Amino acid sequence: MNEPKIDRSEHSQGEPSQGEPSRSEQGRRARIRAALLDWYPRVRRDLPWRRTRDPYRIWVSEVMLQQTQVPTAVPYYERFLEEFPTVEALARAPLDRILAHWQGLGYYARARNLHAAARLVVERHGGRLPADRAALRALPGIGPYIAAAILSIAYGQDEAAIDTNIARVLTRLFDYDGDLTRAAGRRALEAYARALLPPGRAGAFNTAIMELGATVCVARAPRCEVCPVHADCLAHLRGTEELRPRRPEKRPTPYRAHAAAYCLRADPAGGPERLLVVRRVPSGLLGGMWELPTAEVGAAETPAEALRRALAEHLGMAAHAGEPVARVEHGYSHFRVGVDLCPCTVEGEPRPTGAWDAARWITPADRPSVGLTGVTVKALAALGWAEDR
Ligand code: SF4
Repeated sequence: MNEPKIDRSEHSQGEPSQGEPSRSEQGRRARIRAALLDWYPRVRRDLPWRRTRDPYRIWVSEVMLQQTQVPTAVPYYERFLEEFPTVEALARAPLDRILAHWQGLGYYARARNLHAAARLVVERHGGRLPADRAALRALPGIGPYIAAAILSIAYGQDEAAIDTNIARVLTRLFDYDGDLTRAAGRRALEAYARALLPPGRAGAFNTAIMELGATVCVARAPRCEVCPVHADCLAHLRGTEELRPRRPEKRPTPYRAHAAAYCLRADPAGGPERLLVVRRVPSGLLGGMWELPTAEVGAAETPAEALRRALAEHLGMAAHAGEPVARVEHGYSHFRVGVDLCPCTVEGEPRPTGAWDAARWITPADRPSVGLTGVTVKALAALGWAEDR
C-alpha cells in the first residue's frame, strides 16, 4: 500500500495546533473519516444496543458499558430491558429491584443514577429523554460522554463522544502525549474529536471509532496491521503507539481490614435458617446494596471486637462474635479490602442507623430479590451459604 504524504511537522506530540490545518493534514483527517465509516459496517459486532435508535435503550447501554466489558454487559442489558422496557417502567420500579438486577455489575451508583434520572425524565420531559445537551447533562449520571453518545446515535446530532476507548484511539491518531487527567489534555482530546467528526454522520462515526478502540486499537498490543487507518495514524508511523496514551503515575492501592458478621437464626415455623443482611444508605459507595453487617477493624481491635462494637452502635444489638472462619479479598476502584468472616449470634431485632437504613433476615429463596454487594457474594460463597440448601 502506498503511504500517503503526511505533514508530520504539524504535530509536535503536544497541544493541537491552533488555526486552520494544512492541506495535507485536512487530507489525512478526511481519509481517516472515510476509512472508518467504510470499515465499520463491514466488521461491526451485532450487539443488542446497535439494533435500536431508541434513546432510552442507548442510554442504558452506555451506562452499563461505562465500567463493564461488552460480553458481561450483554445478558445484563437484555434482562434489564425485559424487566424495565421503558423509562416509565424504570421510574416506577423500587430501587431495590433495580439494584437486584444490577447485582454483579458493580459501580452501583450507575443504577441509582439511572433510577433517579428516569424519574426526572418522566417528571420533566414526559418520559422521553431530551434531545438537548444541557437538559441531558442536568440528569444524574449523564456526563459529557453519555450525553454526546445519546445525541449523536439516537438523535443524529453532530456531537463528538469521548470515552476511554475513543480517547486512546485519538491520542494515537494524533500522537498526543499530554496528560489526559489534566484540563489541557481533555481540551486537546475534544479538539481532536471535533476535528475528525463528519457533519451529519456523527453517530456512525462515534460508533466506528468506539469499535476500533474496542477491537483493534486495544490498550496493549494494538493490531495496527489490520487497522483501517494505519497509513494515517501518526503514532503508528512514529512507532509510539504503545506509549499512547501517556500512563498516569501509579500510586500504591490502600488496603483496609474489615470484618463481616455471619448471623444465622432458626425459623420458628421450621423453615430454612435465616441470614441477617443490612442495606447501605442510598448515597455513597454501594449505596442501596445489601451486605453482611460489616465493620472496619481498628488497629487495636480483633475482628470479633470490631463486630461487637459495630453491631451495638449501628444495629442496637448485643452480639457474640466468634473467631474468623474464612477470609475474602475484594478490590474497589481506589482501595482493596480483606474481610474476615465471623460467625455471630445476636440478641433482639436490628434497628439500623448510621451507614445502614434497613435490615432483613433472608432465606436462600429471598436472595434474587436483594442486590448483594460483590464482596458479600464472595463471602456467602466462601461460607457455603445457599449453595447446598
Ligand atoms: Fe491504533 Fe495502530 Fe490503528 Fe493507530 S494504526 S489507530 S495505533 S491500531
